[in-house]
Amino acid sequence: MPQTKILLDESEIPTHWYNVVADMPNPPSAPLSPDGKPVGPDALAAIFPMSIIEQEVSSERWIPIPEPVREIFRLYRPSPLFRAHRLEAALGTPAKIYYKYEGVSPAGSHKVNTSIPQAYYNKEAGIKRIATETGAGQWGSSMALAGQMFGLEVRVYMVRVSYDQKPFRRSMMQTWGAQVFASPSMETQTGRDALAKDSENQGSLGMAISEAVEEAASRADTNYALGSVLNHVLLHQTIIGLEAKKQFAKVGDYPDMIFAPCGGGSNFGGVAFPFFADKAGGKNVRLVAVEPTSCPTLTKGVYAYDYGDTAGLTPIMKMYTLGHDFMPPGIHAGGLRYHGDSPLVSQLYHEGLIEAVSVAQLATFEAGVMFARAEGIIPAPESNHAIRACMDEALCCKESGEPKTLFFNLSGHGHFDMAAYDKYLAGQLDDFYYPEEAIKASLSNLPKVG
Ligand SMILES: *Cc1c(COP(=O)(O)O)cnc(C)c1O
Repeated sequence: MPQTKILLDESEIPTHWYNVVADMPNPPSAPLSPDGKPVGPDALAAIFPMSIIEQEVSSERWIPIPEPVREIFRLYRPSPLFRAHRLEAALGTPAKIYYKYEGVSPAGSHKVNTSIPQAYYNKEAGIKRIATETGAGQWGSSMALAGQMFGLEVRVYMVRVSYDQKPFRRSMMQTWGAQVFASPSMETQTGRDALAKDSENQGSLGMAISEAVEEAASRADTNYALGSVLNHVLLHQTIIGLEAKKQFAKVGDYPDMIFAPCGGGSNFGGVAFPFFADKAGGKNVRLVAVEPTSCPTLTKGVYAYDYGDTAGLTPIMKMYTLGHDFMPPGIHAGGLRYHGDSPLVSQLYHEGLIEAVSVAQLATFEAGVMFARAEGIIPAPESNHAIRACMDEALCCKESGEPKTLFFNLSGHGHFDMAAYDKYLAGQLDDFYYPEEAIKASLSNLPKVG
C-alpha cells in the first residue's frame, strides 16, 4: 500500500532555517524611511530585539534554530505530509496530490512557527511584554501561546469587529494567559483619540497595529511582534518546506508545482523557499502563490514603495501593493486581506521566478468542502485558496493525462471559521469582484519615493 501520511521523527526537526536571500539573483531592496533615507537597525531597535533585526538583514544561507525553540517545536512538529489519495480519486486525476498540514499546531495554523522563535529572542533580550495586533485572531492566538511558553506577558489589540464576532478566538488567547483589548482601546493615545471622535469605532488592522506599535515604542520592557511580511518571519516559516523536502525524499518523489495561500507571504515563503534553492540550482519546480480576487496584491497591484500599515507609521518597503489605505472587501479568509506582500516574495515575483494566481471566494469554499469530504480535515478559508488552485491544476492533468506531482500547504484548520462554512452551506456566501475603482483610488496615495 502506498503511504497516506509521511512522517518524520522528532530528531529530524530541522536544525537551521533557510535564508532565500543567499540564492536570490539580486540583493533584496532595503526598507526606507518616508523621506527616502535607508532605515538603519537603530530605528527598529525600539520595537524589535537585535537578534531579530540581524535576521531581518542577514544574507547567510543557513541560520541555526535555537535549541529551546526546537524543544517547543517538538510539541507539534514535524508536521505530517499527506498524500491525498482520496481527493485524487474524487477528482479522477492522474496527478499525485500531496499536502503539508500545519493545522496540527496548538493554535491551529503555521503562525506558531514564528511566534515561538520571536518570543524566545525577546525573552533572551530581557523583554517582559509583547504588544501585538490581531485581525481574525490567528496571529494573536499564536503569540499568546508562545508568550505563555517563554513567560512573557502578551497584550493583543484585537480589531473590535472581530473581538465581538469571534469570542472563542479571544477566550483561546486568554486561556494562554494573554490580555486582549478591543481596538480602538483606552490603553493608548491612538485608541483614546479614535474613541473620542467616534465611540462606536469598529477598528481596523491599521488601527490595531498603531496601538501595538505605540505601546511597544513607549515602554522599554515591551516589544512588538509581527506575524507575516517581514524577512525574519518568512525565514522562520521555512521549517515547513525543509521538513517537506525530507518527506518527499522518503517516498522518492518531488513536486512539479507548489501552491500556498498568500496574504503577507509567510506560509508561501515558508513552504516554497527551500524548493527555490533547488530551482536556483537548475531544478524545474513551479512555485505558485494563491490570493483572493478581492485582494489581488500580486496579480493586480503595483511594485512600489509603500507603508506596511494603514496609518503610515511603519518604514516604507518595496513590495506589490494595492495602496496602504485600500480596504479589501469583507471576505472570510481574513488572513489574506492585506494590502501589501512580503518584499522577498514581491521581488521574486517581479523577477519572474515565482508565479501568482487569484481565485474567487465561492470557488474556494467549494474546493474546501470537497477536500473535507474526501480527506476529512476542514481547512481554514485561507487554505481553501491553495486547495482551489491545486485542484484546478489536477483537473488540467485529467484533461491532458499528465501525471504531475502537485503539492500544497494546508496552512491551518477551519474550526474557528465554521460561521463562514455555515454561510456557504446556506447559499449565502457572495463573490466579490475585483474592486478596480477602490484600488485605483488607493494607489494614488502611494508615498512619492523610490
Ligand atoms: C494568516 C494565515 C494565512 C496567510 O498569511 P501569510 O502571511 O500569507 O502566510 C494563511 N493561512 C492561515 C491559516 C493563516 O492563519
